[in-house]
Amino acid sequence: MQTYEIRPAGVTDIGNVRPTNEDNLLNDGHLFVVADGMGGEGRGEAASRLAIETVRAVFSSEPTADGLLKAVLRANAEVVEHAASGPEWEGMGTTIAAVAVVSGEPDQQLAVVNVGDSRVYLLRETRLERLSSDHSKVADLVRAGETSEAEAFSHPERHVLTQALGAGPDIEPYLAVATPMVGDRLLLCSDGLFNELTEARIIEVLATVTDPNAAAIELVARAKRQGGSDNITVLVLDVG
Ligand code: MG
Repeated sequence: MQTYEIRPAGVTDIGNVRPTNEDNLLNDGHLFVVADGMGGEGRGEAASRLAIETVRAVFSSEPTADGLLKAVLRANAEVVEHAASGPEWEGMGTTIAAVAVVSGEPDQQLAVVNVGDSRVYLLRETRLERLSSDHSKVADLVRAGETSEAEAFSHPERHVLTQALGAGPDIEPYLAVATPMVGDRLLLCSDGLFNELTEARIIEVLATVTDPNAAAIELVARAKRQGGSDNITVLVLDVG
């Protein structure tokens, strides 16, 4: 059976404009998560942290693709409950994008789960593919053929989400299972990255900067040079 080693590197940055960093990340060697909290005044940061802690705890007792999905559903329940616990927490929410190496037949697989618009990309050779699926108004328009990817990049409603953890009890996380290859590079990121850098510019960095830590730092630096109008979180995972 083929097993995979992951070389991970993660960076989270407040950006140039926001007063606080509401993003959080988890990089524990086999489970990797980016969460982009919303709500302001500490709510977003609390939501993204609570979601990540919950996913980590639930996934550790069932480290499978189905376990990852259950972990994200549980995280939603936790954030919904916390948001109802007092007026100071009202309106808290978070996106989530999670990747884990799970056992499969015959070889290990990558489980990918997301809610909201934090993304998971796969770079294979020089081709960048999205493994996650955005829950946003603009993504719906792109899927319906009413807006192009290029228009979506600068669409005025690109920040409007159709799903987020904490928004309500009923969510439908997106789940994908992918077969990795040695040499693949995965990127998990919050929208603070891809709203500043086109996919062509993301490929430029991922395909040329060999060290995952240096690649993560360079992506964040470029997003900040481009404006850095939001918090920026990046996880680069090299599959070996
Ligand atoms: Mg954001």
